[in-house]
Amino acid sequence: MPCEPGGQNAPMVEDARGSEVLSPEALTSEEIHTALGALLDRRDSGASGTVLGAGSDDLAAGRRFLEALVDGGWMVPTWPARHGGRDADASEAVLIDTVMGDYDVADLYPYGVGLNLVGPVLLDHGRPDQQDRWLRPIADGSQIWCQMFSEPDAGSDLANAGMRAERDGGEWVLNGSKVWTSRGAYARWGMCLARTDPSVAKHRGLTMFAVDMTAIGVEVRGLEQINGDRHFTEVFVSDVRVPDADRIGDLGAGWGLTVETLAHERATIGGRSFGGGDTEAQGLPSWLEGWRSSGHLNDPVVRQRAVRAFILHRVNQMTVARAAFALGDGETPGPEGSGAKLRSVAAFKARAYLGKDLAGAAGMLTGTEGHLEFLTAPSMSIRGGTDEVQRNIVGERVLGLPGEPRVDKDAAYVDLKKSR
Ligand SMILES: Cc1cc2nc3c(=O)[nH]c(=O)nc-3n(C[C@H](O)[C@H](O)[C@H](O)COP(=O)(O)OP(=O)(O)OC[C@H]3O[C@@H](n4cnc5c(N)ncnc54)[C@H](O)[C@@H]3O)c2cc1C
Repeated sequence: MPCEPGGQNAPMVEDARGSEVLSPEALTSEEIHTALGALLDRRDSGASGTVLGAGSDDLAAGRRFLEALVDGGWMVPTWPARHGGRDADASEAVLIDTVMGDYDVADLYPYGVGLNLVGPVLLDHGRPDQQDRWLRPIADGSQIWCQMFSEPDAGSDLANAGMRAERDGGEWVLNGSKVWTSRGAYARWGMCLARTDPSVAKHRGLTMFAVDMTAIGVEVRGLEQINGDRHFTEVFVSDVRVPDADRIGDLGAGWGLTVETLAHERATIGGRSFGGGDTEAQGLPSWLEGWRSSGHLNDPVVRQRAVRAFILHRVNQMTVARAAFALGDGETPGPEGSGAKLRSVAAFKARAYLGKDLAGAAGMLTGTEGHLEFLTAPSMSIRGGTDEVQRNIVGERVLGLPGEPRVDKDAAYVDLKKSR
């Protein structure tokens, strides 16, 4: 390892493979810099970042990056060292994340579901043998996960999921279809919500499974997006046998796990900085600096729109940093993730649409700067739950406003009207 945190006498701990991992005690940012500097190249501050992986699915680059970081536990510092983390506390994880912003970070979009959603849920609810099997391959990038929640009849109303899971001895037999499955084209595992008991209310009869995407009966069909993404899919599941050992959480506990997973997803989307130069804690981000130096901000209307995007972005950064401390202290993300997602999406769209306007007639050409952001922007208000649904969550769970009428809340799923 390239540096010794906490000085030369800092204790070392062993990870599951027996290799030495630095103790997480009292790392300074200089020590983190020394360690990361030996593994990664410095970031070019003017370089543009990726847009949620849009148009680029460089699996190999992401895997190389994760492999380089896994032994030090730098990518998922709060995870246990034996699973590819370094047992860091919240403040150290935030420090590592901040320092990481100075380095050239690969596009980790393909690995996002595993690292940000499945991993935390497995740490909270997975059995020890499941944690042993799945966490390290997530941390080192050797196994990619996708999220199989949405169905043709269950999007915003996800509790309506109809994928059937019927018990057969020590196995479950799954039948149904999922849609809008990002990363389905290359995922090895799918975190899949399925109905194990149709005789109870829709929220109560659901269970979570890990589906091996290479299993017989799993058919993945591609859906190409307007921004060029080709990993987007629909997944048909026909008599797929899933061992009970691959059930995540208790029977009937799928809805609770879904809510928790979505809260992680919204906190992650809300916490993302999109594009180059957004990570600076002070000063103007590079995109705003670019508009200033090219004279665009001399126009008061442009200035107002640009500063609105910047304020949304900066307020979100601060709120997310506060939430990250709470998360690292062992709390599960809650409805504040919906607020973060709304703000970050609004900031992203404001910036993408203004950038397109500023390009003038040239902006009609594909390949011009900001075109990918422009094409990706509409989807931001849908993925991870729509803006309308986030506002409902904030209204009901944060502001305490009266809930929407939910006439089917207590009826048995089997008695509900279905579209087919
Ligand atoms: C780019 C992208 C990636 C995605 N990736 C995944 C993935 O990896 N895994 C996965 O499982 N899903 C994924 N999704 C699916 C996504 O979560 C759903 O599209 C989303 O939750 C909306 O569901 P729906 O498309 O069925 O729309 P619907 O639920 O049918 O909604 C249609 C419209 O009605 C509105 N509406 C619905 N209910 C209410 C309400 N109660 N109050 C107010 N308005 C309401 C919605 O806001 C929307 O405008 C992805 C979607 C996109 C666009």
